[in-house]
Amino acid sequence: MADEDFLDEEFPLGDGTADMAAEVHCPYCGEVNEIGLDPGSGASQDYVEDCQVCCRPWRVLVTYGPDGAADVLVEPEELT
Ligand SMILES: [Zn+2]
Repeated sequence: MADEDFLDEEFPLGDGTADMAAEVHCPYCGEVNEIGLDPGSGASQDYVEDCQVCCRPWRVLVTYGPDGAADVLVEPEELT
C-alpha cells in the first residue's frame, strides 16, 4: 500500500528534478535528435526508438543518477 510512496522517497522523480528530454546523435546519420524521456519508467531503461531523421532504429539506454540527471546512450539496433 505504501509501495509508491517508498519508491518516491528512494528515487524522487516526477517532482521536476529529473531530466525529461535529452539530445542524442543518431549512430547512423549523425543528426541530433531531441528525444523525450520518461522518468516514471525507472532508473534504468532500455528500449528501441527510431531516428527522427533517417527512421532507423536505435537501442536507447537511459540511466538516471540520484540527482535526476539522465545518462543517455544510443547504439545501432543491429545485435541480437
Ligand atoms: Zn538517423
